[in-house]
Amino acid sequence: MPKLYLLLGGNLGDRIGYLTQARELLASQIGPITKSSGLYETAAWGKTDQPAFLNQVLELQTALTPEQVLQGINQIEHELGRVRQEHWGARVIDIDILFYDNLVLQTQRLTIPHPQLHLRRFTLLPLAEVAPSLTHPVLGISIDDLLKNCPDPLEVRLLEQP
Ligand code: ADP
Ligand code: MG
Repeated sequence: MPKLYLLLGGNLGDRIGYLTQARELLASQIGPITKSSGLYETAAWGKTDQPAFLNQVLELQTALTPEQVLQGINQIEHELGRVRQEHWGARVIDIDILFYDNLVLQTQRLTIPHPQLHLRRFTLLPLAEVAPSLTHPVLGISIDDLLKNCPDPLEVRLLEQP
């Protein structure tokens, strides 16, 4: 079965609770979670008056196509978003596809690998925890080496072990 890497993130409300709910929904709707990184906290940047983000990377096995995965994660974001809207009115969970096996795909709705992943420390750090030697299929560089050379100055700190 294809191996899928996802980035989860959120900065509103019960951040750990939303990540937990997202993992449960992903496991039942997308496929079994085979690896989970710790939870990493990153200060929001640009608009610094918002709470810090929590991020986590998951490895899953899935029988779904990339398009079906996108549909599934949009549905889960929406499902958790509905809970959120009653209390907050802003987005609490973002789920992005980082890799789908070695697939390189660019359509109107979907770019795989995720176009920003090699530029963001908050993605590379948790990803390096679950897949340090995985090679980026476009750049031909391992996650560990991408992290070593990542110019992103934003501090990312481990909040909770997996
Ligand atoms: P962002 O993740 O940039 O904060 P959204 O979560 O609102 O923004 O995503 C916007 C759109 O990005 C999605 O509706 C989806 O069609 C598109 N998209 C393109 N590539 C990817 C990817 N690798 N993972 C998730 N969404 C993607
Ligand atoms: Mg997204």
